[in-house]
Amino acid sequence: MNFELLVATNNEHKLKEIRQILSPFHITVYGMKDLNIDIGEIEENGKTYYENALIKATALQKVTKMPVIADDTGLEIKALNNKPGLYTARFAKEHGGHEGAFKEIFKCIENKDRSAEFVCDIVLVNVEDKPLKFEARIKGHIAKNVNGEGGFGYDPIFICDELNKTYASMSQEEKNRVSHRGKALNKLITYLKINNLIY
Ligand code: IMP
Repeated sequence: MNFELLVATNNEHKLKEIRQILSPFHITVYGMKDLNIDIGEIEENGKTYYENALIKATALQKVTKMPVIADDTGLEIKALNNKPGLYTARFAKEHGGHEGAFKEIFKCIENKDRSAEFVCDIVLVNVEDKPLKFEARIKGHIAKNVNGEGGFGYDPIFICDELNKTYASMSQEEKNRVSHRGKALNKLITYLKINNLIY
């Protein structure tokens, strides 16, 4: 039995991680490009991570009956009143990319509490009548300097408490095991197993 899943993202890094985490469970993961699906830019104007993930997932419900997941991620920095949070992607854009965002964050939290959390909400649609949510929050702190060559996005500045190094300094296997996306996807895997949709 093979379970097929479409991922509502244009982010190749996310897709790669999701594929790596789910493929050992006989889940075939498709990106939108794999199925020639182009629904243009989706405006993420939700008030929560869940709402944003739901917006992305339901946009695809109009074009497929296949199970769809969408993931919405945010970095919450305590000293910035949990910002950028919902605006994590926009924050990077406004600062000319992630490097610019790192500089701004380093400047704003100098000599302050560096605690932070990475949040990930995954929404699954087209399996039950209602959308299903799988969430993870990972505790960590912001590094003093950019550190590591791996990963993407904010990975070089987020030190995950569980392994005490930045996501970007981890092997892909390590990041998938401890990350917000890895933990949220593990909840999805448990749901699929309990419901005999995968083995
Ligand atoms: P979105 O969930 O695609 O809207 O991404 C929000 C922001 O978080 C973007 O700036 C991404 O680059 C960043 N991001 C998403 N996932 C990760 C991750 O696993 N590590 C680091 N940054 C991430």
